[in-house]
Amino acid sequence: MVRPSAIRRYIGVIAALLLPASLLVSLTAQGNEPELADDTVAEYTPPGHLEYPEVVAITVPDRTALDALVDTGVDLAEHVEDTAAGLRVEAIVTPSEQDWLRSAGFDVGEPLLTEDDFTALQEERQETVAEIEAAEERAMQSGDDLRVQRAAWFRNHDETFVQFEVWSEAGSASADVTLEVSLDAGPGTEIGDGTTFTLSRFVDAGHYMFHRTNLPRQESPVPSRARITSMLDGEVIGEVETDVTEFLDGEYPSGPGAPKEWGDLATGFIDHYVDATEATATIEELAAEHPELAEIVELPNETNGYRRKAQALFQPPSPTFTIDPPSSAAGAYDVVGASFGGTTPFRGTPGDVVLVDDGTDNPTEGCSPLVDFEAGSIALIDRGSCPFVTKVRHAQEAGAVAAVVANNVPGDPFAMGGNAPEVTIPAGMVSLDDGNTIKAGLPAAGTLRRPDLDPHRVVVESLAWGHEGGNDISVEMADPGEPSQPLKVDVDGDDIDVSLATDADGAITSTAAEVVDAINAEAGELVEAYTFRGDDGDGVVYPCTADECYGEPGTPHLSDFLSAPDDVSREPFTVKALRIGKQRDGSNVGVLLYSQEHAREWVTPLVALETAERLLRNYESNETIRKLVDNLDVFIVPSVNPDGSHYSIHDFALQRRNMTNHCPRDGVSDPLGRNSWGVDLNRNFRVGNIHQGFSGASTSCTSDVFAGPEPLSEPEARNETWLAEEHPNIRFAMNTHTHGGYFMWAPGAYRLPTRDGLERPSFGVENYFYEASDIILNRIKEHRGTSVWSSRVGPISDVLYSAAGNSGDDHFYENDIFAWSFEAGSPLWTGNGWSSVGFTPPFEEGREEAMEFSHGWIGILEVAYRYSRDWVPPRSNLSPGAGTYEGPVELAFDFSEPVDIYYTLDGSRPTYDSPRIEFAGPRQGQEPITITETTTIKWFAVDVAGNTQNYYKPDGPGRNYRRATIVIDD
Ligand SMILES: [Zn+2]
Repeated sequence: MVRPSAIRRYIGVIAALLLPASLLVSLTAQGNEPELADDTVAEYTPPGHLEYPEVVAITVPDRTALDALVDTGVDLAEHVEDTAAGLRVEAIVTPSEQDWLRSAGFDVGEPLLTEDDFTALQEERQETVAEIEAAEERAMQSGDDLRVQRAAWFRNHDETFVQFEVWSEAGSASADVTLEVSLDAGPGTEIGDGTTFTLSRFVDAGHYMFHRTNLPRQESPVPSRARITSMLDGEVIGEVETDVTEFLDGEYPSGPGAPKEWGDLATGFIDHYVDATEATATIEELAAEHPELAEIVELPNETNGYRRKAQALFQPPSPTFTIDPPSSAAGAYDVVGASFGGTTPFRGTPGDVVLVDDGTDNPTEGCSPLVDFEAGSIALIDRGSCPFVTKVRHAQEAGAVAAVVANNVPGDPFAMGGNAPEVTIPAGMVSLDDGNTIKAGLPAAGTLRRPDLDPHRVVVESLAWGHEGGNDISVEMADPGEPSQPLKVDVDGDDIDVSLATDADGAITSTAAEVVDAINAEAGELVEAYTFRGDDGDGVVYPCTADECYGEPGTPHLSDFLSAPDDVSREPFTVKALRIGKQRDGSNVGVLLYSQEHAREWVTPLVALETAERLLRNYESNETIRKLVDNLDVFIVPSVNPDGSHYSIHDFALQRRNMTNHCPRDGVSDPLGRNSWGVDLNRNFRVGNIHQGFSGASTSCTSDVFAGPEPLSEPEARNETWLAEEHPNIRFAMNTHTHGGYFMWAPGAYRLPTRDGLERPSFGVENYFYEASDIILNRIKEHRGTSVWSSRVGPISDVLYSAAGNSGDDHFYENDIFAWSFEAGSPLWTGNGWSSVGFTPPFEEGREEAMEFSHGWIGILEVAYRYSRDWVPPRSNLSPGAGTYEGPVELAFDFSEPVDIYYTLDGSRPTYDSPRIEFAGPRQGQEPITITETTTIKWFAVDVAGNTQNYYKPDGPGRNYRRATIVIDD
């Protein structure tokens, strides 16, 4: 903050030395008389040597000071930031200019960017340009390497769409490279008979990923072939042709345990959005009804509960200019206070409202001293022609008790800027419309009320939970109605009466800080009082009851502001899982299906309830369902976050997090902040979290991705890890969210700027995830034809964003579970674009989303069942195989099912410590092995169930691995 003396000082400098003569003349002509200070400093003179400018932040207290800074003529960035310390602007100034500005009283910060920084930037740019040019040169000479990652068409309801992802070597280095896709018009037609379009260059967290279609493109007819052309400077530098294959074609893999038609399946067990109390009651009823197939598992960590302390916020009414009856303008008008002038008393400054006359041609602008103004009135002045401080000073000099300026252009009023310590009356602005209404209602009396609430605010909070007595406490801040009274707090049962202190004139003098201390001293058994968000609390307290200030309307009591009916318990909630399976002793493969980490995702508990009922009610009649229930151990948690669920259903629909308030007393812990408390449970886990430097969470207690004070701080998150660790037979997990239509897995987070930090799944595991997605997403599609997009299937951090500390990563990396995440609720095709469905779609749509993703959950069980039947050794073949080749050979593997392949090139026996086949990059195919001299390659394949090719035992002595000799004949 710049001290007032400093402000006066530099204004003096500027007026004397720096204002252009024309501006000085015009200000004088308008009646503004700049006050010239005596202690001026010398005009700026550049030094006798070359200086390099630096970027510095300069903070000024208000617009007038900013104008003064602008008038110095220094180089300022076109951006002003409103900060707590004042207006912050960046200047590009030399060290001697900085010294000069400081001597003129400006608050000049330390350099943000120096000559070294600029030199480094220039060098970095030069290097990048050189790299791009070298890459372009290489591409021009030897062509672009193009790798087609996705060339897919799919049906969504009745329409056909295509999606492409193509990695370009030249395009990875240069944005000048463009990729164009040309389609045929179906089998038997030529490429080019269909449409042609350009792909976007997809860069994530500063890293080139690939080129892609941003959204699925509607295409008709269905293409069968495509050519991708890579272009640089109008020349073709690469070209590749590819089949366009159907994504989610409804075909299921064959083999033991493979999915079949479901046959007649009873569905449709949901009819409204449910809160966690209802969802829990439903699974308890199901368990009671089917004791031979299901039981309730109580999770050990109770939630904090759908409960809060009761609160009230005592504050003056909002700033207004009120006009009294019987004027036609009677009513309250919004006022925005000025940056200068006296503070408005909280109960307001009353007076007759008088439209000013300054005796000029524009008499109501008040740019000259006022004539015939009755002292003690409120001056109403039109904006225009001279500075705001001039108008208000003239009003004050004429005896006005307050000044209201009417805007002269339409729109909202704004804070009048200016610096004028001699102005002590309060001032504010009303809109043009309101100003006209008030003028039409004159003569009238009115009151201007104070705009700045925070110093006057007192928060009172019960020690007891609202439902345990907090809601019964009443608090009143009373005006004693007599002069010279002391501040008194009387406690009678649950009633706290605060009698505010008054001065000899009967005006209230108790400040917020004094009232806080008095309440805590006298009523500390019942409540705690505190000032607003750490404010000093030196404002006078306004007399009112809780509901008159800010509380539950219609009651003088404190309130927990919770509106769920009484059958929603206010006690800590025991989260329950429904365990379904013929044998629930840990001997079968376990599957953990959980919903509603995020409270507002109302569709997700319905996915859980629909699936639970399908499994239990179809057991007798449906062979597929019976097979799943007989052979799997299924844990269904309809609502991980019951407190948030209750709050979202009954109070604040967009609640994402749990209800636990981690904000400090001097932070956002008052009732105005109650919708921004809680921990994002899907950021509260141990792996890849913000405390380890991963991206995609926050340490702010009011952020919607608040990670909590530490990993697993929240009971809801600990319940999830307990389930997984207490039941080691759990091999699969699904973390169900909305919305967007995604099927995702690890890694779910990365560090910046490297965009890594968590190990990617192995080649075999990731291929297994893609195979599983084929089963699960085809099942989803069977319900009403909704296709999840191929671009939304993959690792969370590749297809959505980095989500530091999510539960899927915890299950995958900590407990070796095949852990997936759904975003149910795919976008809907409107005929000419995609429309998002939102968190709380109309139930009609929400029901369909729950039905189709329940299909997906059963698809997961089919995948798990197939896994439990997988005793078949995988097969793999080298391509090309053993033989004699001229020159280097690139080797890859074909395989019968998703496998990891371990290999050696040095003749040794392959083991789990040997090199492993990996992906060439995210969303790419396998990285080939390049052989340049005669080599015998030895390898074995292992599937995700642990079966090895030929039953080879990598840790035994056997020699039944695969081998092939590649002879290079130079
Ligand atoms: Zn979510």
